[in-house]
Amino acid sequence: MAADLRDPVRSALDAVLGTVREVHGGAVASYIPELAKADPDALGVALVSTRGMLHDAGDAGAEFTIQSVSKPFAFALAVDTFGIDEVTKHVGLEPSGEPFNAISLEPATGRPLNPMINAGAIVITSLLGGPDADADAKAAVVRTGLERFAGRDLVLAQDVYASEASTGDRNRALAYLTRSAGTLGATAEIATDAYFRQCSLLVTARDLAIMAATLANGGVNPVSGERVVGKDAARWTTAVMTSCGMYDASGTWLVHVGLPAKSGVGGGIVALQPGQFGIGTFSPPLDAQGNSVRGVAMLQELSTRFDLHMLEHRGAQLSPIASLERSDVGGETVAVLRGDLKFAGAEEVLTRLAPLVGDDGCLVLDFSAVTRVAEGARRVLSGVPERVGLTADGRPRVVIRDPEGVLERRDPA
Ligand code: GLU
Repeated sequence: MAADLRDPVRSALDAVLGTVREVHGGAVASYIPELAKADPDALGVALVSTRGMLHDAGDAGAEFTIQSVSKPFAFALAVDTFGIDEVTKHVGLEPSGEPFNAISLEPATGRPLNPMINAGAIVITSLLGGPDADADAKAAVVRTGLERFAGRDLVLAQDVYASEASTGDRNRALAYLTRSAGTLGATAEIATDAYFRQCSLLVTARDLAIMAATLANGGVNPVSGERVVGKDAARWTTAVMTSCGMYDASGTWLVHVGLPAKSGVGGGIVALQPGQFGIGTFSPPLDAQGNSVRGVAMLQELSTRFDLHMLEHRGAQLSPIASLERSDVGGETVAVLRGDLKFAGAEEVLTRLAPLVGDDGCLVLDFSAVTRVAEGARRVLSGVPERVGLTADGRPRVVIRDPEGVLERRDPA
């Protein structure tokens, strides 16, 4: 049988699992009694590319409750529905540096510091479905939204939900505090009931990888092809995951792993690299911050091994000017541009070619080998021929040659 070309990715994931099996420590969450029943040895990882290819290893199909990994996706649904300005009247965007269940609200506004801590997440859930929705309706909006991120139906773990509901007084306290501060969008009972159901949805590492890949893909689920949220909502959510996703370990995480991420006390973690992939990990024992010990180790190992840190300096980019030829006919110079033109590429084109624009000939900017013009580059380049005007003998100084129309082609919103 022919070797499967994807084997190297699967073997890499297997190797990462092998490495972290040696990592011990942490404890399965027990403050929600049902969670204490989780198998501490369960270990799985899945990676989904923004082209929808899935690779996994270990217990990637094992179900566990999503818990706080639901928070970025609920936030994405809220900002997509109501807009960032409306949502930030209720919840801030600042890292708290405090534990997930901290009782802290911004003194001046009464807003929870961010949507990744419980107080902020409960407020987000309270907004979904609007002010008149009851707990059933709000829970349904969350579940349907999360199902679109995952691309499949998700089931509620009744036993975990009952366990959370019977022991969730601290979360109720947070809801009452935000209600009295005027930031909660429903009664405390409705908000917490819907929030407990949100946290008790069953997912797998594979689901988490697809959900994260949807954010990495600008809001379009790369497996189902469905647009779940707009590009802005996906970017805002990824930004909040970057600054606040790992609770009071977010700063250390950003230095050592460097991927937007979110953890949950069920043992799951999602991480992503915008434009490239989403990852889901599962291992129940947690560290003191409530992050999965082996999940953190897996992502750190993957990031180091495959050079995934989002702030890694990738070296000088290929010049966007593929060739520059001066023809004898009318003193015309043709600059053939190439690749994916972003702001800095457009800046290089204009700065390097500016000395060639004068009275004695015209410059042709040939876009036939350009694959995409990013919005920032388009703004730099737009109107250049009009701005530089005509030569002394009345010919345009700059001519755009764009047979495929890439300059007009916009990315989907
Ligand atoms: N349902 C959990 C709680 O509210 C979520 C916490 C977490 O996963 O970090 O306590």
